[in-house]
Parts: sequence; C-alpha cells; structure tokens
Amino acid sequence: MTSDDLGPHHSPRTRATTFVLVLAALVPLCFAGWLGWNAIAGEPGKSADAHPAASGTSQDAGGWGSPSAGAKANSAGHPSGTPTTGVSPSPSASKGKPLAGKVVLLDPGHNPGNVDHPSEINKLVFVGNSSKACDTTGASTNAGYPEAQFTLDVARRVRTLLQAEGATVVMTQDGNTPWGPCVTERAAIGNRAHADAAISIHADGAGSSDHGFHVIMPQAVDAGGVDNTAIVGPSHTLGMDVRAAFNAATGEPFANYINGGVGYDIRSDLGGLNMSTVPKVFIECANMRNSGDADRLTSASWRQEAAQGIANGLSQFILQEAH
Ligand SMILES: [Zn+2]
Repeated sequence: MTSDDLGPHHSPRTRATTFVLVLAALVPLCFAGWLGWNAIAGEPGKSADAHPAASGTSQDAGGWGSPSAGAKANSAGHPSGTPTTGVSPSPSASKGKPLAGKVVLLDPGHNPGNVDHPSEINKLVFVGNSSKACDTTGASTNAGYPEAQFTLDVARRVRTLLQAEGATVVMTQDGNTPWGPCVTERAAIGNRAHADAAISIHADGAGSSDHGFHVIMPQAVDAGGVDNTAIVGPSHTLGMDVRAAFNAATGEPFANYINGGVGYDIRSDLGGLNMSTVPKVFIECANMRNSGDADRLTSASWRQEAAQGIANGLSQFILQEAH
C-alpha cells in the first residue's frame, strides 16, 4: 500500500506501437528463458483459474511468518539449483547470463519491524514537493498476513531469478533492519548503486470489492532541489514492461479501481519515485483486502509467479535499454 493518490490521473500515452515492436524483437530471447524456467517448474499455462488456494499448496505449509518457506520455494524454483535438467547456464556461457554487468534495485515495501517503531517511521522527510512520513506499516489481509512479509518474500524470489540471469541485485532491506529505511533512503540506495532499473514492491489495501494489480510510474517533479524529469520517460517504459510481464506470468487482471482499469497510474506524491535518479516504478501486486486476491498472494506458488513476472519485466526493460 502506498499513500492516498493525491495526483491527477493521466491518459495512457500512445506507446503501444513502439512497445509491440520492441517486444517482438525481444520475445525470442525472453521466451527462451521463460521456457527454461517453466521446463523446470513444470508449470502449466497461466489462467486466472489456475491459481491454487492458499491452504491447498504444500509450499504454503511453512506458514506466513516463516522465512524458510520462501527460501525453500526459491531453492526449488531456482534454475541453477537443478543441474540435472541440463538447462542451467554455465558461468562462462554469456548467453545464459544476459544481465551480467547490470544492476537491479529491489525495494520490498515497508518493513515487518515498522509496526514496533512508530516514532522512527512517522518522522517527516522532504521529497521535493512535500514532506512525507519516513515509512509506513503497510496493509494486511483480513486474516492478518502483513504486506511487509509479502513484499520481502516476493523481492527475495525476484532476486534469485535475476541473479540466475547474471544481474547484481541490491535490496533496500532484507529483513535485516529493525525498521525502514525511510522512503528517501530507499531511493538513495538505488541511486548510489546506479541501478539500471529499480522497483518498489507492494500490495494494496483498498476496498474489499477492488481487485487486480497496477504499476505506478513517476510524474515529473522539479521542485525543492528534487528533479526526476530525466527518469520519467524510461520509467514509463519500465512500467509498461512490468505491467505486461506481470499480467502474463500471474493472470492477475489490471486493477479495477485505478485509472480506469489500464493497469498503471502516474503519481507525484511518492518519495521513492520523486527522489529517484534511476528508472523506477512501484507495483501493487494485488489488493490484500479482496478475498480472491488475498487467496492468491498468500500462496507461495502465486508469489513465485509474481516474482517471475516482475523479473521478466525488469529483464525486458534492461535488455531493451542495452540496445
Ligand atoms: Zn505498500
């Protein structure tokens, strides 16, 4: 969940033609990787009906609060962890490491410890056009599964997938800090890393009948010593890549409650986007307060699909920018 939308909504840009052409050029490469991963996971074609309920998958047996549950699933789904399949890229095979030399910033939204540090996270930080809380506690499902656990689990899965492609992955937090960091520091970490792409991973806390996912892209902010105008264009491209890849990997529909259902929004009230000097988007993977979305996001197998979608979108953007 992010702060309430204070900015105006924008019409979609007419990038569809360019996007399709670029996608067509990249599909063979990305599809090869996708086939490899699916060959290992034995995953069937995606449809909204294919998602298992939270309680119906063995991967969920570790429980929400168990970090090992994510680690086990990561290991099981990691291409390099199953050498007998014969598809693991060798370290010397450059075509198996398409993201070698590239840096990705993953920002798991919130922090499981934030709830115990209200005074620290409620301090105001300046984000150019306003002051915001340093960080927030985030949403949760009606049954109590916290957004901060979800974001950290998905980010770790994305990290595993991207590292397998050769990327250097930097995380803003890895469950190793008591709270935060502040939204300004979350942006600064990506800036200092000179990330080729950055994403802040969230799940929303909207009304119970709202469902679906959406990407949030930066609106230009040039105020108070902050200027993100240089990243607005590439961040839009990144957002469209992530939107398409996430939808394809999960079957999750575009959010029915944001920006006319186009699957993305453009905002100027998020410090993490205002302060970024590298291409960056947010993704609200689902609505935690919707029962159908909650069933999916509490499933480890769905979180793996979500991570695959995010990783695919990031990869596509980075490879496209490299040409
Ligand atoms: Zn959030």
